[in-house]
Amino acid sequence: MVERSWRNWAGNQHALPAHVAQPSSVDELSAILWDAAARSLPVRCVGAGHSFTPIAVTDGVQIVLDTLRGIESVERNHDGSAQVTVLAGTRLRELTARLWDLGLAMTNLGDIDEQSVAGAISTGTHGTGVRFGGIATQVSALELMTADGQLLRCSGNENTELFDAARVGLGALGVITRVTLNCVAAFALQAVEMPSTLTATLRGLESTVAGVDHFEFYWFPHTDRVLTKRNTRLLGDSVLKPLGKVRSYLDDELLSNTVFEGLNRAVTRMPALIPRLNAVSARALSAREYTDRSYRVFASSRTVKFVEMEYAVPVSEIAWVLREVDRWLERSMISVAFPVEVRFAAGDDIWLSTAYGRPTAYIAVHQYHRRDHREYFDAVEAICRSVGGRPHWGKLHSLGSAELRETYEHFDDFLRIRDSMDPTRLFDSDYLDHLLS
Ligand SMILES: Cc1cc2nc3c(=O)[nH]c(=O)nc-3n(C[C@H](O)[C@H](O)[C@H](O)COP(=O)(O)OP(=O)(O)OC[C@H]3O[C@@H](n4cnc5c(N)ncnc54)[C@H](O)[C@@H]3O)c2cc1C
Repeated sequence: MVERSWRNWAGNQHALPAHVAQPSSVDELSAILWDAAARSLPVRCVGAGHSFTPIAVTDGVQIVLDTLRGIESVERNHDGSAQVTVLAGTRLRELTARLWDLGLAMTNLGDIDEQSVAGAISTGTHGTGVRFGGIATQVSALELMTADGQLLRCSGNENTELFDAARVGLGALGVITRVTLNCVAAFALQAVEMPSTLTATLRGLESTVAGVDHFEFYWFPHTDRVLTKRNTRLLGDSVLKPLGKVRSYLDDELLSNTVFEGLNRAVTRMPALIPRLNAVSARALSAREYTDRSYRVFASSRTVKFVEMEYAVPVSEIAWVLREVDRWLERSMISVAFPVEVRFAAGDDIWLSTAYGRPTAYIAVHQYHRRDHREYFDAVEAICRSVGGRPHWGKLHSLGSAELRETYEHFDDFLRIRDSMDPTRLFDSDYLDHLLS
């Protein structure tokens, strides 16, 4: 019996669906959709439940594709790349490890790999690297089941408007059943992590970003300190020098996760300590360098629970945005223990992608799940919106359809495709209504 009560990873969204369905085949999925339509129950798919917004929440039928996973086919090209078709419920973690065994890799990833392939692309999940787009840009074809149980394929030359809409489709157009990914030959990443200052990092930002394959940094609020991360792509057969087990346990598990959880519990009771603690934490981070399989460098584990908001802004605005956030924090009574994460991505052509039409910088702000995030997130949101920022679809924000329409040139095209794909609004929820009207 499938558990009906559901909550997301962060624990800030809950649902009690009328029915939870876990189809074991695509045929079974179509019967589930027919049944839901006959009972006038709305349907939402859920992946790994890693979105912070109610985007996967339903009180109707919740579809879990956990049994529809795995690689279905690999079509290799002469240059070592390949088109890899996977079932939509495949988790990125199992996919990337399996791809490595096949001599392949995803060209870029976010900072965790728990998500399902369909869930990750549906909200525009991205990593960093100004020459690389988000995960949805790696998709070359999609198969969706429509509200009436039909399978429809779309790609760059088949149902092209649906393809433009469905790569970041918010689960609003149908159930994604299969995804074909443009994979590249397996590669390693040399990671160089170094403490620096915000002042120095912002001074040379555009040239640093252009000169490093995957550049990002974490800024410790209330201080001028940052940790920079530079990942350089190397051939897949390069000699690997992974972090030793002790060092990686110490840095990633103990320092970043376990100790950080303890610190957050303590400062939740005594927030006035945060600025001093941030200065100490930032100083405690030492430089480190290692080389490992790409997917192991891109993604790490996150055990400290938090809520997050992330905005995409034009690259040219990111320095101003960070300075404004700094100024706001100085004036406010809010103290923030979580570093602010800054990443970059290439512009793309996906209608609801946060990087649509422009090279993009991302600013992600976090708050410990036991603390109130609203005042901080509202202030950062206002700053980002003043430069045409777009919110990540899987992370907290306050925008509704009126504001979203202003920032997406193809917003009404998306709604038109939705009308044709799902005229009876089988794939609906209160939250989607708020986003897409
Ligand atoms: C700790 C943590 C770290 C994160 N790191 C990053 C990061 O580095 N970069 C980034 O951009 N984001 C990041 N995110 C956000 C996350 O990648 C997105 O929210 C992503 O959508 C979650 O994928 P999921 O499989 O959990 O999907 P869910 O959250 O379960 O669902 C997301 C959406 O996908 C839809 N969906 C799921 N399956 C299907 C399907 N088969 N067909 C149609 N629609 C479907 C759902 O209906 C919903 O609309 C992070 C989140 C957490 C909690």
